Amino acid sequence: MNQDEIIQLFKESNALLSGHFRLSSGRHSDVYYEKFTLLKQPAICTRLCQQMAENFAESEAVTVVGPTTGGIIIAYEVARYLGRESIYAEAGENGRVFKRGFSLEKGQKVLIVDDVLTTGRSVFEVISLVNSYGAEIVGIGELLDRSNGTVKFDYPYKPLATVTADSWEPDECPLCARAVAITQPGSRKF
Ligand SMILES: [Zn+2]
Repeated sequence: MNQDEIIQLFKESNALLSGHFRLSSGRHSDVYYEKFTLLKQPAICTRLCQQMAENFAESEAVTVVGPTTGGIIIAYEVARYLGRESIYAEAGENGRVFKRGFSLEKGQKVLIVDDVLTTGRSVFEVISLVNSYGAEIVGIGELLDRSNGTVKFDYPYKPLATVTADSWEPDECPLCARAVAITQPGSRKF
């Protein structure tokens, strides 16, 4: 699947909405992404994870790691296609930790995956967790990058799709200026 087909899949699943939205930050945007609208649809989610697995088929990753909560689903599905194991990193007091007996060995090849990249904070936390074990990060996969290209990694990074999402303070919003009706995501059914 190419980027256009990926974006189309997001739109078909109603996970990626175009319009005029009031974000939780108070800013207005023309794009809204509701990741759990996608993650609750296995038939679509699994197609995206298969594509992600294909993108890293040559990576020799032994273990796929994702951060809670969406990353659990992505890591599991990608690992299933690759025939590898999946574990997940949970929130600890200082960044991410492995619980439930999960661990990595020195030099173990690890693929890090997550659903949507905005600031990259979750992934950076997983990177430092994996590095603390001396494991080797062979790649980073995301379903969707909406960082507008501002987040960079020192590892092979392959988002399935990137979107440019503009946002504005209400008094600078061009959609408000054109009197486009605004939606508060989560407040009603689309
Ligand atoms: Zn507006």
